[in-house]
Amino acid sequence: MVYCTTCGTQIKAGSFCANCGTAAAPAPSSAPAFQQAAPTNTLAIVALVTSLVGIHLAGIICGHIALNQIKSSGESGRGMALAGLIIGYVGVGAVILFCVFWVAAIASISGGIASA
Ligand SMILES: [Zn+2]
Repeated sequence: MVYCTTCGTQIKAGSFCANCGTAAAPAPSSAPAFQQAAPTNTLAIVALVTSLVGIHLAGIICGHIALNQIKSSGESGRGMALAGLIIGYVGVGAVILFCVFWVAAIASISGGIASA
């Protein structure tokens, strides 16, 4: 229960004063709950989505920026930023391995032609 800021009548938190109609202030006990419901960092979502759709470099960059922002702002979304980073790094690693494989394959083929 909280008290009406206008007339002092005891009213239910989140409702309106029955006496004068003033909106009740949020209950003081809801402060820790508000911290739990911190907004999710936008760049963390961007990092995860870009990594998932295959834009891995953008995911890695956004993930790093998001982690820094979350560290200083206390926003939620750290897990999403980390997931975006990890998926991004795995994706980039896979692309590099793929390129190395093909360069090696092409080199061995051209080497075979040259020696033939
Ligand atoms: Zn009132």
